[in-house]
Amino acid sequence: MRRAVDVVVVGAGQAGIEAALACARMGVRTACVTLRLDRIGYLPCNCSIGGPAKGHIAREVDALGGQMGVTTDHSLTHTRTVGTSKGPAVQTIRAQVCKSTYPLFMRGVLETQDSLDLYQGTVESLVLDASGAIRAVRVSEGSEVYDLDCRAVVLTTGTFLNGLCHEGSKKTVAARHGDDSVQSLAAFIKDLGIRTKRFKTGTTPRVKLGSLDLSLAQVMPSESEAGPLSFLHDRTFEKRELLPTWQTRTTPSTHEVLRENLDKSAMFSGDIEGVGPRYCPSVEDKVVRFAGKDSHPIFWEIEEWDSDSVYVQGFSSSMPAEVQLEALKTVPGMESVEMLLPGYAVEYDMADPLQLRPSLMSKLLPGLFLAGQINGTSGYEEAAGQGIVAGINAAHFALGLPEVVFPRTQSFIGVMIDDLVTKGVDDPYRMLTARAEHRLLLRHDNADQRLTPLAIELGLATTERAFRLEKKLRTIQSTKEWLSTTFVFESDLAPLKDAPVVRGRASLYELLKRPEINLVDVETLAIRLGFTAQTPERPGPGRYGSTAAAARRQIEIEAIYDGYLAKQCQEAKLAEKLEFMSLPVELDYWSMTGISHESREKLDRLRPSTIGQASRIPGVRPADVALLIGYLRGSVKSA
Ligand SMILES: Cc1cc2nc3c(=O)[nH]c(=O)nc-3n(C[C@H](O)[C@H](O)[C@H](O)COP(=O)(O)OP(=O)(O)OC[C@H]3O[C@@H](n4cnc5c(N)ncnc54)[C@H](O)[C@@H]3O)c2cc1C
Repeated sequence: MRRAVDVVVVGAGQAGIEAALACARMGVRTACVTLRLDRIGYLPCNCSIGGPAKGHIAREVDALGGQMGVTTDHSLTHTRTVGTSKGPAVQTIRAQVCKSTYPLFMRGVLETQDSLDLYQGTVESLVLDASGAIRAVRVSEGSEVYDLDCRAVVLTTGTFLNGLCHEGSKKTVAARHGDDSVQSLAAFIKDLGIRTKRFKTGTTPRVKLGSLDLSLAQVMPSESEAGPLSFLHDRTFEKRELLPTWQTRTTPSTHEVLRENLDKSAMFSGDIEGVGPRYCPSVEDKVVRFAGKDSHPIFWEIEEWDSDSVYVQGFSSSMPAEVQLEALKTVPGMESVEMLLPGYAVEYDMADPLQLRPSLMSKLLPGLFLAGQINGTSGYEEAAGQGIVAGINAAHFALGLPEVVFPRTQSFIGVMIDDLVTKGVDDPYRMLTARAEHRLLLRHDNADQRLTPLAIELGLATTERAFRLEKKLRTIQSTKEWLSTTFVFESDLAPLKDAPVVRGRASLYELLKRPEINLVDVETLAIRLGFTAQTPERPGPGRYGSTAAAARRQIEIEAIYDGYLAKQCQEAKLAEKLEFMSLPVELDYWSMTGISHESREKLDRLRPSTIGQASRIPGVRPADVALLIGYLRGSVKSA
């Protein structure tokens, strides 16, 4: 094994995996150091990838040549499309994966990746040279201590820095079940001047499948039509029928048990100082925050193929184990439940992302990148999205190439990173579709069109990925051409039963713009009128990810949202103009007259890189942004 590389990635959770693979796939010599090789890609909470907005990020990671989507398709146990009632911008996949297959697959990929070495050990600190630049990371493994020389470091330490687990009043110094917490690196980054805060997250109890009365819950079968997560795949790879999940609900008795025992909850007894996730509250938190509700949904999700372990989605808790069990027994179908593992909460140090550049590089120490839960986010997909960006930028730093910044207008990843580095976080950040201004453009089905060209440029896309994108684009173009140049006439349609009403003539594409008409309807009509339909083939069972299926979907969406898409494109272009107007690092905001004191103070402290970022800093007024633009253009002079 080499003891000198270009980039060291600390951690092999979802962020570390994507960072390490991106660097190595870009041809940069990379080392990935993790506390336990047998926990690479470990999923400490539920085994689900995707869901609203998170599915968009997972697809974007895939479109950039990342690993999350491919591994998901190979370890799938259950899948469904979510957001179907809300239109295509919000629709995405929520996939459940096998808790043991997913990490094993990830480990195999990392172990066989060229230019990447894996190390088991604890990174204690960074070693800086006399000029203050990164020279190495110091690693300990048992009694051995050694330096791994490098030029750039990506920290993806998740919940490990000063991790403290809570279950009722029981406290354990640990990052999560079975993983030690890390103190030395936590102290080192504080000494470096990185501001930290305490955040908290939690997980649910795991219960025995055989102890549940499935007949009392609503069964939710898997939907094979949801298709694969990766753009590389026509289909998913399960060898047997996918598993169902079940839905049941808490009852007033559940809430009573929880309310009666609130004083024993780590959250409410004051034992936990860290701030928890606003959008993923614990069950005791829900009972207090939504006191008027007497029921909350609970889902049973089997964690692994051939396993008896069920994840109780919706029941995250840091109550004592006996209270969790008593409360669970009041849920229909759980009267005889056996608990395999109680839920618990974990508090940890996160690093203030306001000290990061949009490339996720530290403003304090060039060459140091931070990604994932350490930046105050929550979730596998958020971690993976930052991981790939940090990996790309660490590789560029090592190669002496410019930063790669992801604009808000082009990806959810860009929205997330911009939110983090511009607005900071007060509680664990989770991606929501509502956070994106241009979400009609940022759909999960077109992530490849938005990001794979960049992946090709960076050397992250395989030939097959590039080929599939090209084929999809060619199909869309030729089909749209045929639809737009094939006309139907009022006189031909009038005699036909159930034909659409047309005044004069209309192209097939114009018909497709009508919400009640889909591509199958257009094809059927064309055939009735004697045309040969020049449209992509309809997907056969199990081939919902084929390029033809993807092209069909795109054509329908683009037709229905034609006007809206054009408007959002225009708005996005305008926003990009501001986005790319850079603000020099050395700008003296205090010498600028006319700008309010609050704006100057915030601009001086946060040092935004662009006008776009400046405009999103809470408290910076639009009038001050206009003045800033004036200063940049030279039409307004400094004092
Ligand atoms: C108990 C629990 C409950 C959660 N609940 C939810 C939830 O409900 N919803 C949700 O969206 N997300 C939840 N999460 C969060 C989700 O798991 C994470 O956001 C995501 O996995 C973070 O990925 P990451 O790559 O940033 O870090 P992690 O997956 O935590 O990986 C950290 C990696 O860093 C390594 N490491 C740490 N320190 C060192 C060091 N000094 N030297 C070498 N290696 C080091 C570790 O070995 C590990 O490989 C939960 C997490 C936990 C632990």
